Amino acid sequence: MLSFCDLHVHLGKAAGKPVKVTASSSLTLSRALDYAEHFKGLQVMGIIDAACSGVLQELKLMLSQNNLSEKQGGGFSTPSGFLVIPGAEWEMEIKGARVHLIAFFPGIESLEAFNSYLRKKVSNPGLSTQFLRDRIHKVFPLVGQLGGFLGFAHAFTPFKGFFGQLDSLEELGEFASKIKFLELGLSADSNIADGIAELHSLPFIVGSDAHSFQNIGREYLEIDTPVKDFGHFFRVVSSGEGIRGFRGFPPALGKYYQTRCRHCGFNPGSKEEKVCPRCLQQGLIQGVSDRIARLSKTRVQPPERPPYFPHLPLHLLPGFGPKTIEKLYEKLGTELDIIHRVPPEKLARILDSKGVELILSLRRGELGIESGGAGQYGKVKG
Ligand SMILES: [Zn+2]
Ligand SMILES: [Zn+2]
Repeated sequence: MLSFCDLHVHLGKAAGKPVKVTASSSLTLSRALDYAEHFKGLQVMGIIDAACSGVLQELKLMLSQNNLSEKQGGGFSTPSGFLVIPGAEWEMEIKGARVHLIAFFPGIESLEAFNSYLRKKVSNPGLSTQFLRDRIHKVFPLVGQLGGFLGFAHAFTPFKGFFGQLDSLEELGEFASKIKFLELGLSADSNIADGIAELHSLPFIVGSDAHSFQNIGREYLEIDTPVKDFGHFFRVVSSGEGIRGFRGFPPALGKYYQTRCRHCGFNPGSKEEKVCPRCLQQGLIQGVSDRIARLSKTRVQPPERPPYFPHLPLHLLPGFGPKTIEKLYEKLGTELDIIHRVPPEKLARILDSKGVELILSLRRGELGIESGGAGQYGKVKG
């Protein structure tokens, strides 16, 4: 019995009001839970907007109607046993950079306490990922006092990721120890991240940063036992024991993987300047791969980590349109059943041989990729 856990899902609307402005407005709490369990095939989901006022109100309503129950060891469970790990994401200024952080909280009490704090520090506590007007020495210890776990969101994305902008945990001074995990994904896998020696002792997680139904489960952890509750989940994450693998976006597909010119697309190799040697315009955007290579000063043997497998949800595979996916769900089960468990001969009843081969290479974690850069996604070879 494996658990598939996507820790980073946003909601579009709660209590009749917008939550994450860029998310689909039909993506509500109850619909997200239903879709994640019955169409995607996850067992654990992190709702990252759970401390937003409207979402908190809906969580309390679901608890009062017994559509959710609070677990003794933290987290919420649906009547069928699907586990919800509630969390919050916010933006704040650290050493001149605008960084996204996430924290997961054990239950309603801690979420309410964090929501009351947000009410004083953000302009609209109903919205997700708001700018927090406070300093790390206030908010970092608060998360710990509330029994929460604090970490970097999408740590390597160029614009809002911590390591996309800052060079070292040392920028956090004595508060660096409050960071309990780092979210990989979207632009870096564990090998890339372990190029930075100071990260060797920090646990990694992945999450899809989903703003739509389709992208739920874009990235997930595979844990080799059923996850009981919040406490159990973070014991697994902190020790790394029991994680069978990280399944995540192949970094080379990311929009900012290679250094590229945003005007002409030229890749000059690793270059720190902005002017493109081909078109001579100020257009070079430094790629994540080159940035991390620069940050990796010493080559210390990285720790043993669970493997990172390149993964994509079905809708991002070439040739997988909405009709095909609907048919697959209807005939063969959830997305993660299809990717991990359905035998090839059953897949072949619906897919052509190219489609079957793509699913089997996803299963093995061996997708062929052409790199992306300067805001353009890479391509899956298929
Ligand atoms: Zn973010
Ligand atoms: Zn997010």
